[in-house]
Amino acid sequence: MRIIIFGPPGAGKGTQAELISDKYKIPHLSTGEIFRTAIKNQTPLGKKVKKILDAGELVSDDKVVGLVREELQKSKYKEGYILDGFPRTVPQAKAYDEILNNNNTSLKAFLLLEVPNDELIKRILSRGEGRSDDTKEGVQKRLRIYEEETQPVLNYYRKQNAVKKVDGVGTVKEIFQRITTIISN
Ligand code: ADP
Repeated sequence: MRIIIFGPPGAGKGTQAELISDKYKIPHLSTGEIFRTAIKNQTPLGKKVKKILDAGELVSDDKVVGLVREELQKSKYKEGYILDGFPRTVPQAKAYDEILNNNNTSLKAFLLLEVPNDELIKRILSRGEGRSDDTKEGVQKRLRIYEEETQPVLNYYRKQNAVKKVDGVGTVKEIFQRITTIISN
């Protein structure tokens, strides 16, 4: 089962992706987490992307696509996975379609977590995870980039009739319930 969880920063993608991963026994692939771990461990990749993440900007499509393509070759992803944070641009979505096609696989669901902007800003500024991009300026920049570069990805998946909307306001449990109803159908 291959699932994409999509939505603006602060929508709760990571939290829900973890729950989906547990319930359906599929690994959670978060590009943001990969970058944050690389930065923490000061790997060559981490050194290259630190400034970009700190500024709330996007890592280049080439780098992200190369990384995801390589990661998905690991055997643990053979039976499926939940993708969080990717694809984030239309070129990434196109590249991901190619990856699916080349492996004769397809997507089970594209989940769109919907949360109003004022709630997103509130959540991010109060989550206290200590992320260096969780500042007021960082959040505003990420929201702007989401609107400009990431939302077009939605149109791409709408054309494939793949988008399933999820109301992202409520308790973690309530939202997860909405998601499992969609996945089970
Ligand atoms: P959020 O959804 O809160 O922005 P993520 O963990 O998904 O958090 O991403 C954090 C940062 O990692 C992004 O702001 C960006 O710099 C980088 N990043 C993650 N995924 C991608 C991607 N697919 N393409 C480009 N940059 C990415």
